[in-house]
This record gives sequence, structure tokens and C-alpha cells, in this order.
Amino acid sequence: MEHPNEKVMRELINYTINKSGGGRTGCFIVKGDKIISKAISTVEKYKDPTAHGEMNAVRKICRKQKNYHLKDCWVYSTQIPCPMCASLIVWSEAKGIVYGWDGRNTWGKLNIHPKIILKTAKMPIKIIGPFMEEECLKIRGYKKK
Ligand SMILES: [Zn+2]
Repeated sequence: MEHPNEKVMRELINYTINKSGGGRTGCFIVKGDKIISKAISTVEKYKDPTAHGEMNAVRKICRKQKNYHLKDCWVYSTQIPCPMCASLIVWSEAKGIVYGWDGRNTWGKLNIHPKIILKTAKMPIKIIGPFMEEECLKIRGYKKK
């Protein structure tokens, strides 16, 4: 599969809207031609500040595959990952990230741009985004800056 992939991002947007209605981040992990993990953020639901969409999707697949690496995997997120999730992507050694909306206000709590973190990875991570930003903005709660 070529990245960025419109079909995957469209499915992710629909998944995020269907699962949450809005206001949440949705994330897919893609390996080869398959979506191997799907999640939305559950911070409010479980009162867990680390339960971002990316965190939940990575946790799910790592438990399932019984290792903590996402080698050869692509992370798709409905918005640019926050610095914490950017670090997660580096730790998991994902191949690349495709993000939708460049929702800057969500990483405002940590005054470091996530791309700076992604670029520190020893194994280079491909960074693609904003991708299909207008469609991601249809997710309720996402507001153009
Ligand atoms: Zn995050």
C-alpha cells in the first residue's frame, strides 16, 4: 500500500465519527495492506491522561502481537500527534505517520512541536500531513485554527 492512503484515512474519519461522535482523536495502525489496530481516545471515559487515540491503538496491537515494536507499520491519526504520542511513535519504531488535521491547540500543553520529537528518531520516520485536513475537520469538535 502506498502512503498516504485516501481510503484508509476516509475509513479512519468515519470510524472516529461513528465511535465518538466527535471531539476525539482516531488512530489506525497499518501494516502492509491491512489495518491491524483501531482506536479512539478514551481520556474522559477512563480518566486516563495517556489514553490518546494513538496510545490506545499502539497498546492494543502490541499486546496482541506480544512485542512493543511497530516496525514496517504506519500510524494514521485524525490529527497531528501530541508530543507524548510523537514520543510513542519514536519508541515503537513505526515506519511513518500520516496525520489529518494540524490541530495545534492540542499540543499547546507541552511547548514543543511534535515534529521536532519525530525527527529525533534514530530510525527516520516519514511524516506526512496535513492530509485530507478538510475532511478531518468534519469531525465534531475539530475547529480550524
Ligand atoms: Zn497524544
